[in-house]
Parts: sequence; structure tokens; C-alpha cells
Amino acid sequence: MCGIVAYVGEKEAYPIIIEGLKRLEYRGYDSAGISVINGDLATFKCKGKVSDLEAVILDGPLHGNVGIGHTRWATHGVPNDVNAHPHLSGDGNLSIIHNGIIENYAPLKQALENLGHVFKSDTDTEVLIHLIEEVKKEDNLSLEEATRRALQKVVGAYAIVILDKENPHKIVGAKKSSPLVFGIGDGEYFLASDASPMVKYTDKVIYLKDEEIITIDLNEGYEIRTIENEIKKPKVLQIDLKIEELEKGGYEHFMLKEIYQQPITIAESMRGRINAAEGWGKLGGMELHMNRFLNAKRIVLTACGTSWHAAMIAEYLFEDLARIPTEVEYASEFRYRNPIISPDDVIIALSQSGETADTLAAVKLAKSKGAFIYGIVNNVGSTIARTTDSGSYIHAGPEIGVASTKAFTSQLTVLTLMAIILGYQKGKISEDYYRQLLAEMESVPTLVSKILAKADQIKYIAGEVRNASNALYLGRGYNFPIALEGALKLKEISYIHAEGYPAAEMKHGPIALIDMYMPVVIIATNKSAHEKIISNIQEVKARKGIVIAVITEGDQTIKEMADFSIEIPNIAEPLSPLLAVIPLQILSYHIAVMRGCHVDQPRNLAKSVTVE
Ligand code: GLU
Repeated sequence: MCGIVAYVGEKEAYPIIIEGLKRLEYRGYDSAGISVINGDLATFKCKGKVSDLEAVILDGPLHGNVGIGHTRWATHGVPNDVNAHPHLSGDGNLSIIHNGIIENYAPLKQALENLGHVFKSDTDTEVLIHLIEEVKKEDNLSLEEATRRALQKVVGAYAIVILDKENPHKIVGAKKSSPLVFGIGDGEYFLASDASPMVKYTDKVIYLKDEEIITIDLNEGYEIRTIENEIKKPKVLQIDLKIEELEKGGYEHFMLKEIYQQPITIAESMRGRINAAEGWGKLGGMELHMNRFLNAKRIVLTACGTSWHAAMIAEYLFEDLARIPTEVEYASEFRYRNPIISPDDVIIALSQSGETADTLAAVKLAKSKGAFIYGIVNNVGSTIARTTDSGSYIHAGPEIGVASTKAFTSQLTVLTLMAIILGYQKGKISEDYYRQLLAEMESVPTLVSKILAKADQIKYIAGEVRNASNALYLGRGYNFPIALEGALKLKEISYIHAEGYPAAEMKHGPIALIDMYMPVVIIATNKSAHEKIISNIQEVKARKGIVIAVITEGDQTIKEMADFSIEIPNIAEPLSPLLAVIPLQILSYHIAVMRGCHVDQPRNLAKSVTVE
């Protein structure tokens, strides 16, 4: 994954790069490094976070106007000082930062070793910079030309930026399958994995395309060529990203801020898309292609992680409300299992970042088979958003906490709206039910605020179960995927082993695990299966499990049975996941904080998974 940032201009590069790396740290944080040109090439790197890097640079900030920085999420080689980026060429003149994987690094490394190259690290990245050095020296080429030719020999994914000590005013960047944004300021330029490091200085950007190489020269400006040496003149875009959106705004963690933003972000996801009083719901991207949806033989949703849970709920929504056969696929499995895809299929790809490598590959595969692809993405202008045939942005704003919260509820808002619209347009739900669902959708932000007001009560429950080693999450129907999501939230940020199960499946295995130390979180709001879920609670209690029940307000029966209960407002069942997930987010957050975990940057994880 990794975050990369580069600066060329009149200002000191060091503070801009360090600040940029801190904004990109959600992408990886196992090691960090920086190179700045200051007559010589000053390079510092270390295992740990960007703050550890600052501590390593003991003599204070480096001086120089051209530099590159990296925050790593290791793929090749353990996180340590040597494997941290930047990596240098054999002669020490070139310095590279890289996001991605050079898949054919092993044969390239062997060939370079045969030519006398000696490697210091275990990374694929160091092989790439030695390859560029070799190509450059062999034909006495410029850095950009050597990079172009070297990349023709490379298989894999990369966003790279290279410095050359002998050309101190110049940097060269290139990308394939990993994101690279070019920012154009006033007499200064930026390259980064996303726009966050540059928004303070400019709103003018170009999203580089695959196999494009950019050369930035402080004196001569910039030039973009393809790997085939064709000159490109892409349009400069104006981005709308505010610096406050990238800061914690008084909250202790980004995750907490993002949990509390949900009444606003859910409303934003619906803004201009729904009017219950007038009885309409519409999504621009869907309206333009309504026939594809209405005539779809099948909908396939593909996603990874938390987005996959949103997709699972959509399976229930599309089949229940619109009666369209729907399947859900892990993008990583879908792309490699030779799936049957027909031109009548609608493929919906979900990704918060819009850069998830597996989801992007699944989109490309489905596209090549002629299916219609719809993207549900948060990050405006991201690769998936640009690759799909149509789509809806979820408008949740930047999500920085690695554990997804507000992006999940916004994805779910858009998917629920889609199902309601399709159900109505296909004549599968009545006018009355349609209007009722629209009205209840509009009430969701207020109802979420009501749940947030109970955070202290949930924090108390967190204190009671914080020392657990395992936890079970059970739900039925629409709330089975919420059980999966609750378990994922807990394990990713608190490192407590947690499993989500359909409540009735418990007796086919996991019940063996239940004892007096096992918290069992049961989402028990279902109306259709209320009696059944009561039986499941009894089964847990009979084995002395600690029952934490998420119930509908006023459900006295379950309240009396459970050890702890969290009441959420009554709402139509298809909409209940939008509410039921909120207490589970709050519960995980507090447990993780109480256990001293770094909730915004959990170990081994990164926000935007741009490697396969
Ligand atoms: N493959 C490079 C490394 O392991 C970059 C990793 C990445 O982009 O996640 O250092």
C-alpha cells in the first residue's frame, strides 16, 4: 500500500513532506523515510511511524527544495530500517520511493547481480532503482528516458518517484495500478498517493493514468509521456477538499470523529437523492442506465473487507425489495475463479478508496466480458470511479481511521436507496411501502444521533468485556452481515479474536466455544425472526455466555434476558442495519481504547489496499 509524497519548488521540502506523510500514514505505517536534495542527497529512514523518522533526523529539519518521502506497508522484506524507503541506486545518485509490487523482481535481481549489482535490502523496490540505474548508464540516458525503458521490463504495480543527485531540480514519477496524483501549485509541484498532502497549497491536480511517466523540472515545468513515449496533455482538474476534513477536529481519534459524523454523512449520501414528501428517490448514475438495472438478469456485488459486508446486506435488499437475483463476491476470489459473467449482468463494485486492487481487477474482468459496471465509491476521481460505466459517489468525505465506519453506513445508504427505487420501479413494492421506506430513510440521521447519545452506556459495557480473548457476534437476516461487520470492527482494532455467525448456525459449531468468559453480541432487532432469536439467546445463556443484545426500543423480553442491552429506535427491517451497526462501532472503539490499542492505525493493516 504505502503513502508517497514528493515536492519540487521554492519552499523547504522537508516540512511539506513530513506533514504530507502524516496525512498519508493511513496507507501504511510500518516504516518511513525521506530523501532531500541539498547539494548532496540526504536520506534518512527507519522502522516505525513518521514521528519516529523525525526523531531519527537528530540535527533537525533537512534543508533543500526538492525531496521525496515514503510511509511503508511492507510487502517484500520485513519492516526494518534497511527495507524502509527511499532506496538508492548502487552509485548512490538515484533515490526512489515506491508503492506497489514488482512481480518479476526475482529474475531482474538475478540478472542485475550477474552484472555486479549488490543489494542491501530484501525489497522489490531496490531492484527497480538498480534496473533504472543500469539502463541509464548503459546508454547514457536521461533519468526520464531510463525510467521509461526500465519500466517496459517490469511486471507488476507501481507508483514511483525518483530523485537524481546530478539533476537537482528534477523529479520523475510514474504509475501503473497504484495511484499517483500530480499537484500544480504556484511555482511548485507535488506528487502523492492522494491529494491530501497538497490541498494546503493547491487545488489543481492531474490524476496520472496507468503507464504514464511525469518529468517535473523546477525551471522547465512538467511533461507527461506514456511508456510508449507518446506525449500526453491531460486536463487539469480542480478538487474540492478542505483541510479541516483531514484533521481530527477535537476528537481523540479519527475513528471517533468519523463515528460521530454519521448523522451528517448519511444525510450527505442522500442529499438531492430523496424526497419522501414528494414521493421520489433517484440516483443520477442509475437513472441514466435504468434499463440496464430493470432488465438485469442478475446483480453481482463485488468488494473486499467492510465494503463486502455492505454488499452482503445489499443482497438481502435487492432480492427482498426488487426481487432481482443477487450474488456477492469477494473481489479477490471473483477475479481468479473464472466466473460466468454475461452482458445482462449488472456488476456493482464497492470501494471506499476507489483504489482497492482486487476490486479494480474484478471490475476490469467483468468489463471485458461485456457486463455493465456500477461503482459505489467514496474517493472522487479514484481509479474505480473512472473505470466503471456509471456509479454513485457516497459523499462521506475523507475517511482516515483505518477501520471503516462512516463509509460503511454511506455505502449502505446508497445501496438501500437503490433497492427501494428498483423495487418500486419494478412494481415489486407498493406505493405505500415505497413512501414509508423513503420517509424512514430520511429519519435515519436523526435516529443515528439518538444512538450516539447512548455512547456512555455502550462504553460501560465495553469496560465489562474489555479483557475477553474471544467474542461471538450473532444476527439473522438483514442483520447477519452486521454480525460479521461487528466482529471485524472488534478484531481489527482491539485484536480480540471475534467471529460473526448467522444466529441459527451457532449450534452447528461455535456453541462449543461458549463459556462464562465469552461475550456474545446478538443483534436482536429482527421482527420477522424475533421468537427464533430469543431461543438463540436462551441457548447462549444456558452455557453461561455473556449476552450483549442490540434490541429495538421497548423490547422488555430480551432486555430482561440479556446481561447487557443496547436499545436502538424502531425502523423498517430493511433499514435496520443502518442503525444496528452504530452501537457495534462504538463498542469496538471503546474496547480498543481501553486495551491501549492504536485505533486509527491498527497493526498490520492499512486503509487503502492497493496491493493484491
Ligand atoms: N513492495 C514495496 C515494499 O515492500 C512497496 C510496498 C507497498 O507499496 O505496499 O517495500
